[in-house]
Amino acid sequence: MTGSVAVVGASLAGVSTARALRGHGFDGEITLIGAEEHQPYDRPPLSKALLAGQAGTADLALLGTDEDLGVRWLLGRRATGLLPGERRVLLDDGASVTADAVVVATGARARRLPLPAPDRGVHVLRTMDDARRLAADLRPGARLVVIGGGFIGCEVAATSRGLGLEVTVVEAGPMPLAPALGPEVAGVLLRLHRAHGVRVECGAGVIAVRGSVRPSAVVLDDGREIPADVVLLAVGAVPETDWLHGSGVTLAADGSVACDSSCRTSVPSVFAVGDAASADHRFLGGQARVEHWSNALEQAGVAAAALLGLPGATAGDAPPYFWSDQYGHRLQLAGRPLPGDRLTFVEGEPTGAGFAGVYEHTTPTGAVTTAVVALDRPRPFARLRRGLTPRPAPSRPA
Ligand SMILES: Cc1cc2nc3c(=O)[nH]c(=O)nc-3n(C[C@H](O)[C@H](O)[C@H](O)COP(=O)(O)OP(=O)(O)OC[C@H]3O[C@@H](n4cnc5c(N)ncnc54)[C@H](O)[C@@H]3O)c2cc1C
Repeated sequence: MTGSVAVVGASLAGVSTARALRGHGFDGEITLIGAEEHQPYDRPPLSKALLAGQAGTADLALLGTDEDLGVRWLLGRRATGLLPGERRVLLDDGASVTADAVVVATGARARRLPLPAPDRGVHVLRTMDDARRLAADLRPGARLVVIGGGFIGCEVAATSRGLGLEVTVVEAGPMPLAPALGPEVAGVLLRLHRAHGVRVECGAGVIAVRGSVRPSAVVLDDGREIPADVVLLAVGAVPETDWLHGSGVTLAADGSVACDSSCRTSVPSVFAVGDAASADHRFLGGQARVEHWSNALEQAGVAAAALLGLPGATAGDAPPYFWSDQYGHRLQLAGRPLPGDRLTFVEGEPTGAGFAGVYEHTTPTGAVTTAVVALDRPRPFARLRRGLTPRPAPSRPA
């Protein structure tokens, strides 16, 4: 198998694609183009062990110490365009890379809010450099305000409590994590945060971060002000696909690359994987962008097989899966709950020391299992996850 492949984005999805291509015996040229200077690293520890000072940069390496993928590395170089019809990737230094196939693995960037805010002490968390800047500000006794009660916000809140900061989470919705987990499980995590001394303010929007050089307070839309020395904006991530404008590659409404179930884009021999892609997802029953670590890995395998014309898995053969670590507890979820699902605890209970449960959605033809969840119950979770059959879930909101 010869030919050439340019993989744009040298992180989990990109490196995994190169690894999968080599695993299939592909011996052509692979060029890995990555905007960051760092060797490829894993992102989940950025909000957990790395931020807590329990892991160093080397612990996050995505490549084994003696692993050689035989690729041409172009690190610290950003793709700025893709010429339609030519499969030529333009780079920010004026050079370009032409290949028989291109894989888009450019992930996402942290969303920022157009708020008045001081220049220093207001952070986002997506990259190793972000994590280092944030870590330098997380001093014991400092007051951290996390804007956004999603997984990254909640994990940073938990890590920061461990570091001895005073922490407030501001969430615009009724409860942190409720859209992803439903009210019962989100309620368990809310109680966990409060039990660890985190102040959680819900139903409040942020209109400004006060302070001239560094933050002094976060101003809410109801007039309240929360004192702050450090602020983290944790309000989601935007697909990193601006560089594809004009390439002919179709983007979905959220800016991600629209793909079929084999991660093929609208342009022949151009594929997309990971956080940048929204594939036709078998389990979720339609186009979906799944911002989970395991999804980046799975789609890399799907795209590599499709690129080489080999039979292989399709996106969503397995239900989406993610984990989150907070205060030494591990939450795991497979599938995707729908609003109004009924949650049945099959082991443990929400007020106890861990649980495993099943989400079911009622349809005109009966109940459908949409997701399974566990807190500190890895074995029952694994069993429940195996039983979660990949089948289209009922009418999901877009
Ligand atoms: C702090 C944090 C904690 C997380 N924790 C968990 C967790 O506990 N569990 C879980 O399931 N998931 C977690 N995730 C999500 C998981 O890390 C992502 O789903 C995964 O990193 C996606 O991989 P990716 O390769 O698609 O994208 P990314 O990891 O975003 O990598 C994309 C790469 O492309 C590069 N790039 C972007 N634009 C260009 C360009 N134009 N040219 C060249 N290169 C470019 C970027 O610099 C980046 O290195 C976490 C994410 C973060 C940020």
